[in-house]
Amino acid sequence: ALATQVRTFDGEGRTSDGHRVHLLANVGEPAGAAKAAEAGAEGVGLFRTEFCFLDRAEEPSVAEQVKAYRTVLAAFPGKKVVVRTLDAGADKPMPFLTDTAEPNPALGVRGLRTSWRNPRILDNQLTAIAEAASAESADVWVMAPMVATVDETEEFVAACAKHGLTTAGVMVEVPSAALMSGPILARAAFASIGTNDLTQYTMAADRLLGSLASLSDAFHPAVLRMIEETCRGGAQQSRPVGVCGEAAADPATAVVLVGLGVSSLSMSPRSLPDVAAVLAATSLQRCQELAQLALGAESAEQARALVRGQLPVLD
Ligand code: PEP
Ligand code: MG
Repeated sequence: ALATQVRTFDGEGRTSDGHRVHLLANVGEPAGAAKAAEAGAEGVGLFRTEFCFLDRAEEPSVAEQVKAYRTVLAAFPGKKVVVRTLDAGADKPMPFLTDTAEPNPALGVRGLRTSWRNPRILDNQLTAIAEAASAESADVWVMAPMVATVDETEEFVAACAKHGLTTAGVMVEVPSAALMSGPILARAAFASIGTNDLTQYTMAADRLLGSLASLSDAFHPAVLRMIEETCRGGAQQSRPVGVCGEAAADPATAVVLVGLGVSSLSMSPRSLPDVAAVLAATSLQRCQELAQLALGAESAEQARALVRGQLPVLD
């Protein structure tokens, strides 16, 4: 019933007993921001800035970046927009930045790691984000991709602060970051879990390989335990933890994520209505019970079947 029903969503995400869950949109190309706002998104939980950098021989100028970022911020006046800094490498190679000779690009110099060798690219990008943020009224949060350590977190937060960007957070998409979320969130203002990469690195299964699709499942209890651990760190430091990977768009997964302690879900705008509907029909306590059921399973298939069997049927 959930998949076939045409629903709309305009308002605020909540469980049936009123527990707030922020329902946000993932945005790629800047033009997609207006569509996300039309779809009712409460804000942007992941703006993938690499779309402004792809298929280019050189880094785009600061002025070009400001223009692209302002387009996204302008679609969400007064609302939260989480801007992710450049996630170059592996599945997102950039000609001007990526070393194509690396034998294992997914385990190589990618994401925030590219700034170790090219600090100027991150600095230029933060300059552009700060300029766009001062010109628009959106509430701008900045986050780094592929953070693995407490030191990287500290360096990124300090780099953002130099540009007056005070709400700086990290993506949790590497198991080390999930397991170190307490000390990481003592430094960062928030965490956003990227389930696409967190699943890839927890299961050691390339997210681009169709032949490994059965292993690339965020419903696997091993991945859910990583998420649970991240939420534990968030609760310990009173920092919000969101999810911006594809898993947030699946209603059964969304309920489990909320039960694990996730406070915002960011997804493709078309998935917002179904996720809003299933949350509105489920209490927080039920979400927590379903999360425990999934954590106790021995496989992704078993976890999904257990949760799906208990979900409310919506018409
Ligand atoms: C993720 O890894 O889940 C994520 C949201 O980032 P991307 O898919 O852009 O790597
Ligand atoms: Mg990722």
